[in-house]
Amino acid sequence: MITTELSNIGNIIQNQREFFKSGKTKDVTFRIEQLKNLRQAIIEHEESIVEALKADLHKPTLESYLTEIGVIKEIDYAIKHLKTWTKPKKAPVSFDFFSYSARIYPEPLGVVLIIGPWNYPFQLIISPLVGAIAAGNCAIIKPSEIASHTSDVIAKIIAKHFDPAYIAVVEGGVEASQKLLAEKFDHIFFTGGTAVGKIVMAAAAKYLTPVTLELGGKSPCIVDSDINLEHTVRRITWGKFINAGQTCIAPDYLLVNKIIKKDLINGLEKCLKEFYSDNPVNSPDYARIISQKHFERLVNFLKDGEVIIGGENQPSERYLAPTVIDNVSLEDSVMQEEIFGPILPIIEYTDIAEAIALINSRPKPLALYLFSQNKNLQKRVLQETSSGGVCINDTVMQVGVSSLPFGGVGDSGIGNYHGKASFDTFSHNKSVLQNSFWLDLKWRYAPYEGKLPIIKKLLG
Ligand code: NAD
Repeated sequence: MITTELSNIGNIIQNQREFFKSGKTKDVTFRIEQLKNLRQAIIEHEESIVEALKADLHKPTLESYLTEIGVIKEIDYAIKHLKTWTKPKKAPVSFDFFSYSARIYPEPLGVVLIIGPWNYPFQLIISPLVGAIAAGNCAIIKPSEIASHTSDVIAKIIAKHFDPAYIAVVEGGVEASQKLLAEKFDHIFFTGGTAVGKIVMAAAAKYLTPVTLELGGKSPCIVDSDINLEHTVRRITWGKFINAGQTCIAPDYLLVNKIIKKDLINGLEKCLKEFYSDNPVNSPDYARIISQKHFERLVNFLKDGEVIIGGENQPSERYLAPTVIDNVSLEDSVMQEEIFGPILPIIEYTDIAEAIALINSRPKPLALYLFSQNKNLQKRVLQETSSGGVCINDTVMQVGVSSLPFGGVGDSGIGNYHGKASFDTFSHNKSVLQNSFWLDLKWRYAPYEGKLPIIKKLLG
């Protein structure tokens, strides 16, 4: 492990401030080179990344490529569009401003802090870093100590390929995080739980530092009866049980139309066998729970409702089978907390109004899923609910579309990123208005006598 002396944090920040002041990061060619450098570094260390993710989460290799190393797509997207994003944009001016021109200049913020979680421990550090680099900032990153192998790999890769005066890693847990948060940054980008998000925002308030908070919550998944059952079942099973359910946008619970409930449960059972065999503990394609603490938290949920599929577990391996539970009460802890594991509660409804009312009685979720071909129902759910994002007739795939801003609303977060949104998050849009000298009408200057009618006319 490359350890950064926590007492050294002040120096790292100071050096980054100097680096930023040198103006190097303002050069778009430099940014593109650094994005290419990052891309190359990831490719060079692919194997160590996959190994680290296996050690931390037993993450299947395919999932590591799809959901972690796949961040390369974000880098390519930024490289492709960066010249357009960085160009000043002309802003229209009204007729009474006819001698002026207006432009918006995106400019970097300075030195930013990125704090990551353990569930997609590589991607959720590198993806915001792409935005920070693209927008021309220096960055300090703090990966999650809980995915310790991945944290080590990130530290090694960054130390090998980047000048710490430009990009640096600080490894460690709560203490490291709090030491960092005691310092002044120009932006803090945090991904993690809502409780810690509040701590981050309180620390940022001291310096009026802007924050992006990518938080979690309970993402509902509505299943109407007007669906292709086979496709629905496969897409829900995949989105829920990938990474053993430890996905911030995994469907947390199902809200199922009563008419289709029995078929859906049968379908889920069949699909789970198809994906992970009769005995998922032996499947190379099924991950493990990150820590003993989280494992115990999840096993406790099994006391709620009735386990109808799965439920088997092995504490020594932190293995919890893909599990479906029925007959839960809304007061049960499994329906109060974000599950963040391979447990899927099913709640039935007879009228969509009940499902909508339940969603609206809870904090706004990060994602909302709806399976239905009924256009009116789609429209109604979109209109009557609020969530960070919505995906219709699929799960989790919205995260892979770079042109869609990704983030929460209310308790599920503040701000968003991915693609251009990442560039915007780490930029300040500087408004620049320019007048010319060829004319200087006196309608706004004192003495004001006789000028009010002109002002009234201008106001329309
Ligand atoms: P967490 O909030 O416990 O930890 C996240 C980071 O904060 C870690 O780096 C940790 O070291 C640091 N931290 C922990 N306690 C702290 C404290 N008291 N003060 C300062 N820093 C502290 O989150 P986690 O358990 O790593 O991740 C799980 C949560 O993250 C879930 O709620 C999940 O939904 C959410 N999440 C959200 C997204 C998203 O994109 N919105 C993605 C992944 C995970």
